[in-house]
Amino acid sequence: MRLRTSSEQSGGVFSYSNDRMDKMNASIIGLVNQKGGTGKTTTCVNLGIDLAREGKKVLIADCDPQGSATISLGHSQPDALPVTLSDLMGKVLNDEPISPGEGILHHEEGVDILPANITLAGMEVSLVNAMSRETTLKQVLANFSKGYDHILLDCGPSLGMLTINALSAADRIIIPVQAQYLSAKGVEQLLATVARVKRNINHKLHIDGVLLTMVDSRTNNSREIASLLRSTYGSRIKVFDTEIPRSVRAAEISAEGKSIFAHDPAGKVAQAYHALTKEVLQLERQRQKHQSDLIR
Ligand code: ADP
Ligand code: MG
Repeated sequence: MRLRTSSEQSGGVFSYSNDRMDKMNASIIGLVNQKGGTGKTTTCVNLGIDLAREGKKVLIADCDPQGSATISLGHSQPDALPVTLSDLMGKVLNDEPISPGEGILHHEEGVDILPANITLAGMEVSLVNAMSRETTLKQVLANFSKGYDHILLDCGPSLGMLTINALSAADRIIIPVQAQYLSAKGVEQLLATVARVKRNINHKLHIDGVLLTMVDSRTNNSREIASLLRSTYGSRIKVFDTEIPRSVRAAEISAEGKSIFAHDPAGKVAQAYHALTKEVLQLERQRQKHQSDLIR
């Protein structure tokens, strides 16, 4: 297998942006991959909760009409929730104000949730003809940004309007990839979309890296995939040092409504997600230093 880079990636897609980020605002991290079942939701929930365990104020925004993150955080009937992300996006489209904390739920492990349900699918359809169709989510999040250190966006399995909204709102994205089923074409498509959004809508968008998930320790496959990604994309795209191992423990948590840190704190998946949190925070510190060097 060989991955080919697209010409669109040569335009500095992976370089640091010179934009001066408003330090008062949350750092918005999108979990993105248009393929389903790559570990986006599991990573979003566990990274979010571990960031909260590290003392960060965290909001998890569910941007998938399937409401998987909402369900994973204990709301097993998302369709019964009175206020969800689609209501807030509707308010933005209608120029109506959003009240402080509107629609936000709290999870006992210390994160806040902006839930989603199937009504978000209808919202995605109405966005197509809306004036601010790419930045509606960004405008919703602007209402909450000052209250959080991190806002995590759990994207659904498509490159439709909702994911474009997430890419337009995010400062950085993490791309969870199931090494075993890596799709070169899928990665190319995603990177081309990221490049387009970066060029046209969100100049500060940065790819933090590809995260290998559901890695089976009995095979060397993940190492091959990681070196393939590195040789194909070189320094322009980082592959996280941390790999998330496959474990039935990880698959159990969504039904439990809690994180791996509550469900199996001593297990290898909890260890791996904690290592990921450290890498993510490290990247953030590097970026902040880079920016303050630019300002100086
Ligand atoms: P996505 O959000 O990308 O669709 P999910 O996080 O929902 O992916 O994961 C897909 C499926 O794989 C879910 O059933 C989830 O419980 C399971 N899963 C996620 N991570 C692991 C893991 N490390 N080991 C085993 N199963 C996992
Ligand atoms: Mg998901």
